[in-house]
Amino acid sequence: MNRKIALITGANKGIGLAAAGQIAAAGFHVLVGARDAHKGEAAVAQLKESGASAEYLEIDVSDATSIERAGKVVAEKFGVLDVLVNNAAVALDDGRGVLEVSLEDFRATFETNVFGPLLVSRAFWPLLQKSDSPRLINVSSGVGALQNMSAGMPSYASSKTALNAITKKLAGEGKGKIAVNSICPGWVKTDMGGEGASRTTDQGASIITKLATQENPSSGKFVNEDGELQW
Ligand code: NAP
Repeated sequence: MNRKIALITGANKGIGLAAAGQIAAAGFHVLVGARDAHKGEAAVAQLKESGASAEYLEIDVSDATSIERAGKVVAEKFGVLDVLVNNAAVALDDGRGVLEVSLEDFRATFETNVFGPLLVSRAFWPLLQKSDSPRLINVSSGVGALQNMSAGMPSYASSKTALNAITKKLAGEGKGKIAVNSICPGWVKTDMGGEGASRTTDQGASIITKLATQENPSSGKFVNEDGELQW
């Protein structure tokens, strides 16, 4: 494979699928991470219709065994990973406040949105270390910024705060050699963002693509397409 390799989790729809299309258009071979083979293969077929170099990779980020298996598949097939986008996430608060969301839903949110990216980053770190320009991009959200935090979306918002902390820790481990950053895509029209959202999936994905492809990216930052955000 003479193309760089990018893995995007939760790439079967929404912002992840748009990022997969943009990163493939930039010349990468894209591993379309999805937990459902039917949805993952359908996304790959859609991407290939637009000329993308892409294939499905089964990965359920809430399942440690699935993550480990995906890591082995990529290690055996490619031996390297250039870009990892931790995009898969859930939003389970459903209008409930911090005093109402069940502990079960709080835990499920953290399993997917925090421990998922942590385990995926650990599994693929040795492959990123083999790249000559490795990047790890955590898809976070402005609602995870402590300075703006209010009552809404308690488990989702605090999961993104925790994800941002993991970005800082991984950036420290990366020592400037692996660029690790958090991004906010803005409010995007997807199943999660809803119909009222102001941005398209391509607009939301553009900051992911920028960090995946730009020369000499910084590390340990929280950014959107307008620049750096406060944590
Ligand atoms: P979406 O359309 O709901 O897509 C979420 C993706 O994550 C789907 O592919 C879903 O797969 C996948 N996923 C969920 N749990 C998973 C698991 N355990 N293993 C593997 N994949 C899993 O949401 P989106 O709006 O594109 O969100 C993408 C990212 O942007 C998320 O990190 C989200 O927090 C962030 N974000 C979104 C907005 C917004 O306004 N939309 C704003 C800020 C941040 P299935 O199809 O199998 O469920």
